[in-house]
Amino acid sequence: MPASQNTAESVKLDFTKPYVLSINGDLVSGKGTFDVFNPADNTVLAKAPEGTEEQMEAAIQAAKKAFPKWSALSWDERSTYITRYADALEANKEDLITLLTLEQGKPRHSMATSEVDAAIYWVREVAKRRVPVEVLEETDQHTVEVHHTPLGVVGAITPWNFPVLLGLWKVAPCLITGNTMVLKPSPYTPLTSLRFGEIAQKVFPAGVLNVVSGGNELGQKMTEHPAIAKISFTGSTATGKKVMASGSSNLKRVTLELGGNDAAIVLEGTEYKDLIPTLFWAAYGNSGQWCIAVKRLYVHSSIHEDFVKEFVAYAQSKKVGDGMNPSTDLGPIQNRMQFNKLVDLFDDVKTKGYKVPLGGSIDRNQAGNFVPVTVVDNPPENSRIVQEEPFGPILPIIAFDDVDDVVERANAGNFGLAGSVWGKDRDAAIAVANRLETGTVWVNEIHIHGIDIPFGGHKQSGMGVENGHEGLCEFTNTKTMMLKK
Ligand code: NAD
Repeated sequence: MPASQNTAESVKLDFTKPYVLSINGDLVSGKGTFDVFNPADNTVLAKAPEGTEEQMEAAIQAAKKAFPKWSALSWDERSTYITRYADALEANKEDLITLLTLEQGKPRHSMATSEVDAAIYWVREVAKRRVPVEVLEETDQHTVEVHHTPLGVVGAITPWNFPVLLGLWKVAPCLITGNTMVLKPSPYTPLTSLRFGEIAQKVFPAGVLNVVSGGNELGQKMTEHPAIAKISFTGSTATGKKVMASGSSNLKRVTLELGGNDAAIVLEGTEYKDLIPTLFWAAYGNSGQWCIAVKRLYVHSSIHEDFVKEFVAYAQSKKVGDGMNPSTDLGPIQNRMQFNKLVDLFDDVKTKGYKVPLGGSIDRNQAGNFVPVTVVDNPPENSRIVQEEPFGPILPIIAFDDVDDVVERANAGNFGLAGSVWGKDRDAAIAVANRLETGTVWVNEIHIHGIDIPFGGHKQSGMGVENGHEGLCEFTNTKTMMLKK
């Protein structure tokens, strides 16, 4: 089954056409549609197809039917298809970027472009990865080998903050390892996923990648379905627990990438002035709607006051606005549900009387979901703004005196996604990093990701990893073969 040749013309989509589901290689309408809003003004951006449970069933059966042939291809053959998929995504890149800004809100010229670029890069690079057979023993009597065989049909469930990148992070490793997939995007941001699903139909054999949009119940159907072998889920911890519970019916494999409340710790004596832009973007990039955004910034008390002044001076120059405007630094909050959560959190900050040197008031009557860049100066450790994952452009900057105390505070909650430590004395910073209970920790740098770097959460921030050799292996069954000579 050789991958067919595609020209840039033949894989180019007409982005003005209605949105459709991709099921078994066919582009089909849903039973009805649901509205998708542009978060910059809450007008209806498009109508997305509302997939039915029967359509989800058809997609799962299509993926099941496609599995034997797809998994029987060699890695190189699958790689050829996936590389062509990267080319096809590339041919549609500019339209995907615009659509991402319109449905998600992030600035087109910066974050939306980098998300789509990174996603295409990921697809292209993952196509080059292999999981070779490992020979554990080779004696005169026998051979012991470890093979990594595909699992079958994988269900992918994605959130609304990075719909393109997080979706394709699942697609590429799932397919290269020989599985087939049904992907259900967030109902808040289904459009880019529907389009990359359509693009996939121009490249892959029918049923290899199916995309079905609709409500949360479609996600639940996938987690319960006996024909699905694994769920790859990115979203909130609360939903992740439901996925794990209902996936237990047939002992599904699960990879859960969940929430976080990441701490950044700036140690005594840190020359912080040049770090302020880095720390600002680490907290406010994507308007704070980022699982690994810095959500608590602990700064040693000897520098805390000056740090806050300089941080605020930098932050106040940043412009919140419509992501289609090239002068916008930070876009709106993606949806009204999240916007209202932030309104509630901002009210709590105000009612409790915490110091707010920047921002602090959300205009609830505006058309869009814009939230001002907000800094909360030294709120108490037990405040909501320190304890909860805000998922918005608001950051508490908290003073600390003692390293043991700050480590204890950083580790106190149920989350353990990532963290960072900043300091002049690299060894001292590494010593603190060693004590953080997180899936990832950075020292004097932040938010580095890579195809070969495993990423996952500790404690209730997740289970398993994506990316890296380990991430690829999570799409496989470890099959030990013992062969007598
Ligand atoms: P969410 O949990 O509300 O929804 C995520 C997805 O799950 C959506 O597609 C939704 O339709 C689906 N879903 C909802 N109920 C379901 C159910 N019962 N069964 C199956 N699927 C169901 O999360 P969200 O609000 O879209 O995303 C924000 C959260 O995601 C934040 O907590 C953030 O930290 C987390 N996140 C984590 C990572 C990571 O890699 N760790 C990355 C991005 C976002």
